Amino acid sequence: MAKEQQPQAAQQGAAGLSPLFPTYARYPISLVKGEGSWLWDDQGNKYLDFMCGLAVTNLGHAPKQVKEKLKAQLDELWHVSNLFHIPGQEKAAALLTQHTCADAVFFCNSGAEANEAAIKLARRYHQKVLGNGRFEIITFTQSFHGRTLATLTATGQDKVKEGFLPLPAGFKTVPLHDVKALESAITSSTAAIMIEMVQAEGGVYPVDPAFVKAIQELCQKHGLLLIVDEVQTGMGRTGKLFAHEHYGLQPDIFTSAKGLGSGFPVGAMLGKGYLREAFAAGSHGSTFGGTPMSMAVVQATLETMVEENVPQRAAESGQYLVARLHEELGGHSFVKDIRGKGLLIGIECADAVGEIVLEGQRRGLLFVTAGPNVIRLLPNLLVSKEEIDQAVSLLAELIQEHTAVKSL
Ligand SMILES: *Cc1c(COP(=O)(O)O)cnc(C)c1O
Repeated sequence: MAKEQQPQAAQQGAAGLSPLFPTYARYPISLVKGEGSWLWDDQGNKYLDFMCGLAVTNLGHAPKQVKEKLKAQLDELWHVSNLFHIPGQEKAAALLTQHTCADAVFFCNSGAEANEAAIKLARRYHQKVLGNGRFEIITFTQSFHGRTLATLTATGQDKVKEGFLPLPAGFKTVPLHDVKALESAITSSTAAIMIEMVQAEGGVYPVDPAFVKAIQELCQKHGLLLIVDEVQTGMGRTGKLFAHEHYGLQPDIFTSAKGLGSGFPVGAMLGKGYLREAFAAGSHGSTFGGTPMSMAVVQATLETMVEENVPQRAAESGQYLVARLHEELGGHSFVKDIRGKGLLIGIECADAVGEIVLEGQRRGLLFVTAGPNVIRLLPNLLVSKEEIDQAVSLLAELIQEHTAVKSL
């Protein structure tokens, strides 16, 4: 577009405007250093981190074992094309398949990309292997699957779709926990059902085991693939390495990202062995997928998780955190529900909680929301009891003060 055709705001240029696109409403804090459960800003203020970059730094900030592997890799090799064998990638995949129900892995760089790969694999399996032309993916209201065109279409929240029409065809959304709606949404075009075991962005809603069972039966009956989005729930977050283990479930495909690299960008799509033949050389790829750097980090993260029993520790700390929250907040009229799994915890409140998040930051505690009324707590999985106590006391104080001010 020529300069004179640009809208007024764009012509104003750099004067006072950020050189970044305004895709985030950023908090007025610049974090510059992190260690374990703690972060520091550029003014020297210290924060207890109960958000972990949104379920990313599951082993805390700069975990020693991972840092050492990454530094060692930095001296060896940064990047090589996937046109070559990458030993680190095969090792990381072997570790992942050894500790999960999956048999094969595709590495990429983010959660959205992992879900894209899952959608592509499901379609291709039906179209190329079974030869039935199926393409449709059924997802659930309030789900979140990413920001690419396909994954935002899969997402069951209208706000991520505004202004991006036309959306790609082949997606359908039904209400969570509604077996009838799900069954009637299935047609001869349906290829797969995609679900999170705990809807995280959508408000921290764990899926009911009876509903998971119904999904399994429908997949069986109609020949559908089951895709579990473990981008937020995976890597120990819910008290198991992956959340579908709580349900005794073996999904055909599941995805991982956030916690997979301890903060280094990496994603993975994992699937059962019979899906291998759906992909051939050239059918999918990623320049940066499975680079030696990210693979060193994935190996170190997984080894630490397994050797130090991190998922089990997350389960125990999660129980302790929920018990402490009930003690301090259980009887409070502002608190409607405390729910979640492991260290993915939601506190549903009677009203908007955005102000509480900001006041928490001013007092040195970082946490986030999941929808307007839900406080979401995502500490690292090695968080100590003392740190949990400290966060819960401050949170109780924040809620007391918030509700006292409101009732004046
Ligand atoms: C964060 C998230 C994604 C998207 O991951 P990106 O790495 O931001 O692309 C997808 N699904 C779920 C459940 C998530 O929480």
